[in-house]
Amino acid sequence: MSEITKLTKQFRVDHGKDFRLKDHDPASTAHLHSKEHAKELLNESILRMAELQNKLYAQDQWSLLLIFQALDAAGKDSAIKHVMSGVNPQGCQVSAFKVPSSEELDHDYLWRNMVRLPARGHIGIFNRSYYEEVLVVRVHPEVLRGERVPPSLVTKHIWKERFEDIHAFERYLSRNGILIRKFFLNVSKKEQKKRFLERLDEPEKNWKFSAADVHERGYWDDYMTAYEEAICHTACKQAPWYVIPADNKWFTRLVVASAIVETLEELKLHYPKVPAAKRGELSAARESLEGKTAKSSDRKRSSRPLVIE
Ligand code: ATP
Ligand code: MG
Repeated sequence: MSEITKLTKQFRVDHGKDFRLKDHDPASTAHLHSKEHAKELLNESILRMAELQNKLYAQDQWSLLLIFQALDAAGKDSAIKHVMSGVNPQGCQVSAFKVPSSEELDHDYLWRNMVRLPARGHIGIFNRSYYEEVLVVRVHPEVLRGERVPPSLVTKHIWKERFEDIHAFERYLSRNGILIRKFFLNVSKKEQKKRFLERLDEPEKNWKFSAADVHERGYWDDYMTAYEEAICHTACKQAPWYVIPADNKWFTRLVVASAIVETLEELKLHYPKVPAAKRGELSAARESLEGKTAKSSDRKRSSRPLVIE
């Protein structure tokens, strides 16, 4: 088993049925104790990710959807920033989902996510996602009332129905070649407090402080229950969750990067091969570039553009 597989396997949840958050330690760093070694591994993963992304883009068939969910100050933004530092921005889009706008509330809750799905060959990153619909919306019933779902459809089964719909939606995406990997950055309540205090104490972090985040902290246990249930009902082989220890940012980043590399490796991506019929066109193009051919006007031009498949 490679070091990467060893690292990611223990945090991957393929079958949600027996998932319990209490079995996951936010402070774990697995078998790794040296930050320096972790940094080396992260750099290797980032380089490998860049190579794999190139192939993903060239092949233009699969796409990868990475969903990041977490409580405030768990390090979503910085994990995204570090992990994606090596990828080509042309093939990667990040979408942050905030409180829905009035236009978004005029639609079903998947609508705004749907239009941000990655195109073939691309990587899409969701910084928060439709999962908020079974998290913040569940923790705050007044948010659900604001969604204007017809009251006869809002029953005690609503969360179970949303889990089923999300599961079906993800199955649909995976059957269309969109690979989904979901990351829950699991920070402890103690570490969150420390990070909030740093935001108050350090002037360059003041801008990150939000009193609303401190208010949300009051609902900690409700969020934990909501996350546990969401993961229980939506972790499956095609769309696994990674429950990543988030008390040590260096470790979080490494596990996220490793999980992405592992996912792309599984696709056995390769650059498209040029079919035999096209090779002639390539040699003609080479001769023309090297000035070995007769004037272009003398040659019968190919009406088709040169496509390297
Ligand atoms: P950061 O604080 O690092 O900028 P963030 O993701 O916390 O990132 P905020 O603007 O602070 O961004 O918060 C976004 C808020 O939007 C969160 O409180 C989240 O719960 C809320 N939100 C996201 N999706 C929905 C939704 N579908 N319905 C209601 N609230 C939502
Ligand atoms: Mg926030």
